[in-house]
Amino acid sequence: MKALVFNGPRDIRYESYADPELRSANSAILKVESCSICGSDLHMYHGAHIGKREYSADAPGFCCGHEFIGEVVETGGEVHTFKVGDKVLSAGGTGCGTCAACLTGKPRSCSKSTAFGIGPTLEGGQAEFVNVPNADATLMSREGLTDEQALLLTDGMATAYFGLTRAEPQPGGTVAVIGLGPIGIIGVELAFALGAARVFAIDPVVSRRKMAQALGAEVFVPGPDLKAQILEATGGAGVQSVFEASGAKGAINSVLPLVGKRGNASFIGIPEPDDALPLPLIMFKNVTVRGGICDVQNMWPHLVPLIQSGRIKAAGLFSHDFKLSEGAEAYRLFDSREDDVIKLRIDVG
Ligand SMILES: [Zn+2]
Ligand SMILES: [Zn+2]
Repeated sequence: MKALVFNGPRDIRYESYADPELRSANSAILKVESCSICGSDLHMYHGAHIGKREYSADAPGFCCGHEFIGEVVETGGEVHTFKVGDKVLSAGGTGCGTCAACLTGKPRSCSKSTAFGIGPTLEGGQAEFVNVPNADATLMSREGLTDEQALLLTDGMATAYFGLTRAEPQPGGTVAVIGLGPIGIIGVELAFALGAARVFAIDPVVSRRKMAQALGAEVFVPGPDLKAQILEATGGAGVQSVFEASGAKGAINSVLPLVGKRGNASFIGIPEPDDALPLPLIMFKNVTVRGGICDVQNMWPHLVPLIQSGRIKAAGLFSHDFKLSEGAEAYRLFDSREDDVIKLRIDVG
C-alpha cells in the first residue's frame, strides 16, 4: 500500500509500506477514505517529543496519522459490533481491549494505551489501510455524519470537549481559550453551547481570531500586554476557566497569570519535557490544574447529539483538501500556517 511515512524531522514521505495484517482477534482492518493532520503530529514533524518518544533523524520509520475514517474490509473473530462494509470513524488512540481499564471504558488508563501513528507500536491511518486493535471499542459508525464531522470526532472535537470541560466552565461564567487551532475554535463554540457568558479567545493569527470573533468571542493577541488586558476586561477578577489548546511554550506560560481566584486551568497540548507551571500562582490563587489526553470514545455520547442538533457546527474548519500523494506538502502547509490554513482533509480514496 501507499502511506505517509515518517523518515525524520520535516521529512514525511508518500511511499510504499507493508500492508497491515490483523494483529489480534479483536482487530479490524480499515480501507481509509480520508484522514487529517493534527497539531500534535507537528511535534514529530519538528523532531521534538511526544511523551518519552523523540523524533530525531534516526528514529525508526512508521505510518503517521491518528485522525482517519474508512470502511471495514476485514475483521478478527472477536470483533462483534462491526462487519465488512461498515463505514466507520476511529478514535485517535486505543488500548488492548482486554484489561480492567479497557473493559471499564478507560482506554487511556490501559498500560498498552497509545495513539495511532506516533511510532511503530501502532501504525497510523495516513495510509491506504490501517489495523485497528480493540475495534469494538475504538470504532464508531459514521452513518448520519459528514466526513468532516467524522474526522473531527476522531480526536479534535473530542479533545476540545475534554479539555474545555476539565476547565469547569460554568453557565454565566467566563472562559479563556488560548490557541485557536481547530481544537481551540471548537472550544470557543462549545463554551458558548455550555452556557459561558463571555469567552476570551487568544491567538497570534488574525484569521483564527476572526473565526473566534464570528462565534461571539472577545479576541486578544498574545504578548506582554495580555494579562493586563484580560484583567481589565474582567474588572480585575481574571478568568474562571482557562483552556490551553495549543501546547506552544508561550501559550502554556500565559495560562496561570490569567486564571482568577479559585479558577480552573486545563491543558491538552503536548508539552516538551522542560515545560513547567508556576506553583506559587497555583497555590495562592487556589487554582485547580488539570492536564491529560482524552479518552476520545467517552466524548462521543456528548458530541454526536450536539452535532446532530446543530448546536455545534464546527463550520469552516476544513480550509484545504489534499490527496494522500501530496502528503509532504500538506504537512508543510499545515506547519507553516500560510494561506489561512486551519484544518486539512486528505482524500485517500
Ligand atoms: Zn489529533
Ligand atoms: Zn487495556
